[in-house]
Amino acid sequence: MSHTKQPTPHMVADPALLGIADEMKESGGHWQPCTGCYDTEDGHPTQRYDYSPALQTEIGCGCHECGGLGAVWWHMTDEQLASFENDCKEIDAEDRRDRKLATIVAPDNGTPHEVFSAVLECARAWVPEARIIGNVRAGDIARAIESLPAPETRERVS
Ligand SMILES: [Zn+2]
Repeated sequence: MSHTKQPTPHMVADPALLGIADEMKESGGHWQPCTGCYDTEDGHPTQRYDYSPALQTEIGCGCHECGGLGAVWWHMTDEQLASFENDCKEIDAEDRRDRKLATIVAPDNGTPHEVFSAVLECARAWVPEARIIGNVRAGDIARAIESLPAPETRERVS
């Protein structure tokens, strides 16, 4: 990216632009093109935009969202980062559960064993605290079915 840098004495002299590079390095944040005035389609800019050596990003034409700068500051606090990572983990867990739940089927009018096995497997796919049927927790459902006498649960579909 450094090949696009050009001498811009008047920009470097602008005190507003001093310290930007240091701040980026220190905070891990960066300037990115303003979505209000930098049009993209499928992740690619729809026209040729200028590159700002000071902000180290391409910039839009300037609009009220960015105060005419063409770029906006992007930075995540440690808290935001943690909650973002947490969200990702939760989504992963949800994905896995949904995929697992989709594979669990009990035939219509199935035998009690088939039905209980399917319900038990579904219940185990959730965290025990999840209230998956009415207000009944998954962990309690699993425990109740597991405690049933044979033959309903003797064979496990695990
Ligand atoms: Zn803008």
